[in-house]
Amino acid sequence: MRIILLGPPGCGKGTQAKMMVEKFGIPQISTGDILRGAVKEGSPMGKEAKKYMDGGLLVPDEVVVGIVRERLQNKDCASGFILDGFPRTLPQADALTEVLKELQLPLDRVLSLTVDNQALIERLSGRRTCRECGRGYHIKFDPPKKPDFCDACGGSLFQRDDDKEETIRERLTVYENQTAPLIAYYREAGILAVIDGMKKIPEVQKEIDRLLGGGLD
Ligand code: AMP
Repeated sequence: MRIILLGPPGCGKGTQAKMMVEKFGIPQISTGDILRGAVKEGSPMGKEAKKYMDGGLLVPDEVVVGIVRERLQNKDCASGFILDGFPRTLPQADALTEVLKELQLPLDRVLSLTVDNQALIERLSGRRTCRECGRGYHIKFDPPKKPDFCDACGGSLFQRDDDKEETIRERLTVYENQTAPLIAYYREAGILAVIDGMKKIPEVQKEIDRLLGGGLD
């Protein structure tokens, strides 16, 4: 099962990807997580990427394509993968098509999650993450029992720099201009399925299950 989760920041790609990892036992490849890891490590790539990420802009195509090309060659991708947050531009999509052709791993489905902008801003601005174990919360929709601390491990919660309101707006504009054209790209390829991401998490999950088991919309 080789899948792309496509959609604006805050549409639920990461949440659904994590549930699919559990269910299907295939890896989630999140370029955002990989880049944040590089920033934390302070590697040269992380230092370069941080300049773009802090402003809500996209990291250059060559950098992310290089990351994904390498990651897809890992053994754990042989039985499938879920791409979360990649591709985000037409050149990235073209590069992915080439890499997958070389590796003889054709894509099965592109799941496009749609959510309106007001809801995205509310979801992203309330998002918090545990500094210790990485568990995610939302101050309104999924608050921790003790404000600012993780229920699971007691670690302190933080807000991603790019989840501050001004940066969120920039990220949404970048999505509209650079990433939304991929919906038509994959529709033309005949592998696009559209999912209403405004629904509750378990309902979206059910819809994904149905689509992966059945036909395309
Ligand atoms: P995410 O966690 O997917 O929202 O990604 C966070 C940030 O990482 C984005 O705002 C970009 O700056 C960068 N990033 C992640 N994936 C990509 C990508 N495929 N292309 C370019 N930049 C990316």
